[in-house]
Amino acid sequence: MSNKLVNERDLQFVLWEQLELEKILDHEAFGGVSRDDHNMIIEQISKFAEEVLLPINLEGDEVGCKYDDGEVKIPKCYHDAFKAFKEAGWMGLSAPPEYGGQGLSQFATLMVSEFLNGANVSFSIYPGLTSGAAAVIEEYGTQEQKDRYLKKMYAGDWGGTMDLTEDGAGSAVGDLKTKAKKVGDKWLIEGTKQFITAAENDMVENIIHLVLARAEGSPPGIKGISLFIVPKFRVNPDGSLGEFNDLRCTGIEEKMGLHGSATCALLFGDEGKCEGELLGEVDKGIIYMFKLMNHARLGTGLQGLAAASTAYLASLQYAKERVQGVEIKNMRDVNAPRVEIIKHPDVRRMLLKMKAYIEGMRAVLYRAAYLAAMGMIAEDTAEREKYNDMFEVFTPVIKAYFSDTGFLLTSDAVQVHGGYGYCKEYKVEQLMRDSKIASIFEGTNGIQALDLVGRKVFNLKKQMKPYNDLIAELRKFIEDNKGHPTLAAFIEKAGDAIETLDTTTQHLVNCGMSGDQEYPVIVATPYLKLFGDVLVGWQLCDQLIIADRKLNEIYEKEGAGDDAAKAKLVEDNNEAAFYSGKCHAAKFYLDTLLCQVKGDSAYITSNNRSVVEIPENAF
Ligand SMILES: Cc1cc2nc3c(=O)[nH]c(=O)nc-3n(C[C@H](O)[C@H](O)[C@H](O)COP(=O)(O)OP(=O)(O)OC[C@H]3O[C@@H](n4cnc5c(N)ncnc54)[C@H](O)[C@@H]3O)c2cc1C
Repeated sequence: MSNKLVNERDLQFVLWEQLELEKILDHEAFGGVSRDDHNMIIEQISKFAEEVLLPINLEGDEVGCKYDDGEVKIPKCYHDAFKAFKEAGWMGLSAPPEYGGQGLSQFATLMVSEFLNGANVSFSIYPGLTSGAAAVIEEYGTQEQKDRYLKKMYAGDWGGTMDLTEDGAGSAVGDLKTKAKKVGDKWLIEGTKQFITAAENDMVENIIHLVLARAEGSPPGIKGISLFIVPKFRVNPDGSLGEFNDLRCTGIEEKMGLHGSATCALLFGDEGKCEGELLGEVDKGIIYMFKLMNHARLGTGLQGLAAASTAYLASLQYAKERVQGVEIKNMRDVNAPRVEIIKHPDVRRMLLKMKAYIEGMRAVLYRAAYLAAMGMIAEDTAEREKYNDMFEVFTPVIKAYFSDTGFLLTSDAVQVHGGYGYCKEYKVEQLMRDSKIASIFEGTNGIQALDLVGRKVFNLKKQMKPYNDLIAELRKFIEDNKGHPTLAAFIEKAGDAIETLDTTTQHLVNCGMSGDQEYPVIVATPYLKLFGDVLVGWQLCDQLIIADRKLNEIYEKEGAGDDAAKAKLVEDNNEAAFYSGKCHAAKFYLDTLLCQVKGDSAYITSNNRSVVEIPENAF
């Protein structure tokens, strides 16, 4: 069975050949981490993920988390791995050095996450959540709060959680009922939370919950929500652990997947003694949480990509080994040699489709990280704002499109494995179960689609500038490349898809302008899918141009003039094979998959309102 999680050559292509990151890496914001350092990180994390985390993925799934009277036992195998993880220095990678971190770039963090999530998503959520919660304290906490919590959290000695969801407040966070009451100089927290990941776990000494609650006297809805630091054990001013803070886990969920990750119900203040510390200002909690969630959503999209990547590489190896049937040209010959299933066109179709989406999504992900980086380092304030706003348009697309597509690709991986794929013996079965959650948590994909249309594209405060800037960037790419001597037809297809996106968007704008706010909401999900398909098409087209050039350079260097010599070179030379594979994947996508945008556009511009018109008793 394949242990590979990520096509490392492809990752390097995106970083160094497509984004040309070396041009910006020497900026002080990236902590002096060079190309060689990044490549070394890839080498080390792939080894750690393949050798330590992947082998315990199945055990974590089978053993699961166990609840016993308020305590949760995380699978034993995770304890050893977590210790090794901390000792190897993988905690707090992007944290500032003054809090014990390494201050690495967001590119390094994403790379590491891709490997971790591809190997063992249940395990990876523990350190990921802790770093996320610590980052919120780092950004909005007082100096005293930072000094008290961050070192321990970034070291992985204390865990962190995000506590938004309640029984009656899932997508509608503003309906939460958890209360915070000020008594003297203390806040007392009272209420329950549902589905909180890692809210109780025996791998850490303390757990720092970031809890959304309504302060007494605050208005209803999301404008009256504040954010509180609520530790399981109170933390004394000198950093030592104090009393138990009157919050307990009342149970954990039995789930479809993610068995190694504890999903907990929490009860705060049963005895009226649960103390919280306000983070930032009263009633600003949702703003702080959304800021964090923009980054967390990238991480959730990445879970979809990582699952698909591991599933693809496992399927590729399986298809090269599994012997079944004969080649189509020999179908009438009972004595024809039996072949590996990779010889069958339909299996090749599934593999190439997976490869194309995965490589396209990886490029979109790092492009988004690049925009966020430029949002930090561009010299001009207006430029920084432009990049940050474009990054914000990407986030709901990455979260929802990647998680939906990633899940569907794991289903293709099960299909490539046939009946064996449906059985536990092969890891694609677990990958498919584990990856479903990414479309549900961190805001369901339906909510992401509303965010894309309602806030990111129809950004009325900025008169749709972020969307228009992005479309201008896409059009510039087409304009710059349309005269390509051999690839013009593919560039035209990418250009058509971009124009389809824009005419579809204009249709929705016209609806809004004519007072119809409902229709864009009805079609928000197919719109997000169309948007994602276009971004992937743009990035694969860019990759095609680069890979085609590099492949031709190799042909020239090696003196391969005719088709036979070129084919032989691709067979023998890994670099030529890599570029050839990339060209095939991109051309396949641009010819056969990108055309789905036409169908989605027809759906969106149909003005069909059946989903809201059908009476409930007629469903
Ligand atoms: C394994 C797991 C881990 C989790 N971890 C955490 C965690 O660490 N912290 C935390 O706070 N929460 C966590 N959650 C909760 C998760 O974020 C919620 O389940 C999610 O936000 C959806 O809320 P809900 O389950 O109440 O579904 P609902 O909100 O009831 O949604 C049900 C369906 O209705 C749709 N829907 C709801 N409202 C709208 C609307 N206005 N417009 C269009 N469609 C709508 C949704 O898209 C969805 O399809 C976790 C959940 C799970 C299962």
